[in-house]
Amino acid sequence: MSDSIFTKILKGEIPSDIIIQTDDLFVIKDINPKAKTHLLIITKEEIPTLNDLPSNSDIPSKAVELAKRIANEMLEKPEYKLQINVGKNAGQEVFHIHFHFLSKFKLKSTV
Ligand code: 5GP
Repeated sequence: MSDSIFTKILKGEIPSDIIIQTDDLFVIKDINPKAKTHLLIITKEEIPTLNDLPSNSDIPSKAVELAKRIANEMLEKPEYKLQINVGKNAGQEVFHIHFHFLSKFKLKSTV
């Protein structure tokens, strides 16, 4: 199977600034932002949907912790929403797990 667009970004084959990386996750700005700040928190491992994660996976809690860190360290005000689309009929276009991080507040820094 060919790599997803997010795997290509992670490998540097498609340009996109990676704002943060952890062992399991990386964060980029959405190319088509739906809010003043619209980031994508993406699993490094290419897993199609949330439904494919084993029930004991710690990815969801790690993604939430990373969202909190972004909000507390980088947002002008730490108020935001997290959204996960699961499946085509829920609006999922890229079949590689990602959490949308949306806020009406700007990023004050990207470090
Ligand atoms: P989904 O609809 O799968 O939940 O969200 C996929 C998101 O990926 C969309 O919001 C879309 O704008 C974003 N996206 C698609 N291709 C690219 C890309 O090449 N670079 C970046 N930064 N975002 C992308």
